[in-house]
Amino acid sequence: MSTKATVEKLVSLCKRRGLVFQSSEIYGGIGGFWDYGPLGVELKNNIKQAWWKAVVQERDDVVGQDASIIMNPTVWRASGHLDTFADPMVDCKECKKRFRADELVGAAPAGTHGHEAAAKVARCPECGGELTEPRMFNLMFRTYVGPVEDDASTAYLRPETAQGIFVNFANILATTRKKLPFGIAQIGKAFRNEITPGNFIFRDREFEQMEIEYFVKPGTDEQWHQHWVEERHNWYLRLGMRKENVRVRRLEPEEQAHYAKDTYEVEYLFPMGWSELEGIANRTDFDLRRHAEFSGRDLEYFDEESGEHIVPYVIEPSAGVDRLLMAFLVDAYDEEEVRNETRVILRLHKELAPVKVAVLPLSRNEKLVPSAREVWTLVRKHWMSQYDDAQSIGRRYRRQDEVGTPLCVTVDFDTLEDQAVTIRERDTMEQVRVPIAGLVDALRERLETA
Ligand code: ATP
Repeated sequence: MSTKATVEKLVSLCKRRGLVFQSSEIYGGIGGFWDYGPLGVELKNNIKQAWWKAVVQERDDVVGQDASIIMNPTVWRASGHLDTFADPMVDCKECKKRFRADELVGAAPAGTHGHEAAAKVARCPECGGELTEPRMFNLMFRTYVGPVEDDASTAYLRPETAQGIFVNFANILATTRKKLPFGIAQIGKAFRNEITPGNFIFRDREFEQMEIEYFVKPGTDEQWHQHWVEERHNWYLRLGMRKENVRVRRLEPEEQAHYAKDTYEVEYLFPMGWSELEGIANRTDFDLRRHAEFSGRDLEYFDEESGEHIVPYVIEPSAGVDRLLMAFLVDAYDEEEVRNETRVILRLHKELAPVKVAVLPLSRNEKLVPSAREVWTLVRKHWMSQYDDAQSIGRRYRRQDEVGTPLCVTVDFDTLEDQAVTIRERDTMEQVRVPIAGLVDALRERLETA
């Protein structure tokens, strides 16, 4: 984590610069829901694209898909979500605040663990009041399909994208003729009625997931698990996250989901401490077996080598886009003193930066405007860019630094004479003069080399 980033500073920067807003803010907001503004949506898209490129485009063993959010409710019976996707909830009898009992475990007596510890936390951490007994609360949002609201029409907003992949396993196998090992990747919204959403966009009730279900022959699962742990860890480092802020942790047996044989987490040092960015679980053959059982369909794979029908094991790297976006912001956030002023700067990786190039005429002088607009026309065909002519040039550089724009191009009065412009780099603040004729190449060299 950047020692300078706090959740408050991030929330304020995100609001001020149009990255993230509270959902329905004019009505007082709604807990656990957030909106992404003009720069936020660019950053989010860039994260998703970088992921897709690494796990689908650059691999020959993973294909993509996009399943619907609402599925046949039997999916959730088969997956176990209807029975087990629940958190223990306690209420304070005094102040009426609600907590996830397992999150209060830190306050439990020494020597107690998990739900046992949760049950022992007798007092409210806010006011010291007495707490109710823990009750299990299912996190799935419920809705109705069609005009009649009854049990038969009850459906659920998916709490994870993974099940949309399992139910398409046979379709994708038949249409792509993939051989094991192979994976299916998907990015999409997921919904969880979290008891205690919070820490900005870290824990939301509506969020986006990027998940891969990687199907392997049983017996090779442990080796492929290691492969994905390394791949995913390196992806964060390649996108500029500081090594000391990212770690891989193997979960203890009592921390595992009921279906998992083994799970690792990629964790990030957020301002509130080390927390999960991504889970990488060995889900065994649990899901395919359950869906075969509940649907009556054959979800086996015919292995030509051995002549046997097998149910593949699954390695699942599962990451949350919103949580990653927050981590990338925390990691990139920096403040430095420049000429007795604090420069706030987002040192985002070039691939992630919402705006790659800002075109800035030195002033609004009418002689400069046509050249500056021409330069912008040249640049915007290639990269997401902005044209900004409001306030002093120094102020405009600061504004671009604050949202992580790697390069600014300044058009000044000399441009009218020498047909050249100045490129200014975000991190070093170095400036170089380049002819307009060579500008696109000069920008490309700076933006697209590693
Ligand atoms: P946590 O323990 O933080 O509740 P989890 O173990 O339930 O997370 P998974 O079910 O493994 O999470 O989901 C995979 C990923 O989806 C997480 O690593 C996280 O990045 C993201 N994610 C899960 N729940 C949320 C949420 N409520 N808000 C934002 N992202 C989430």
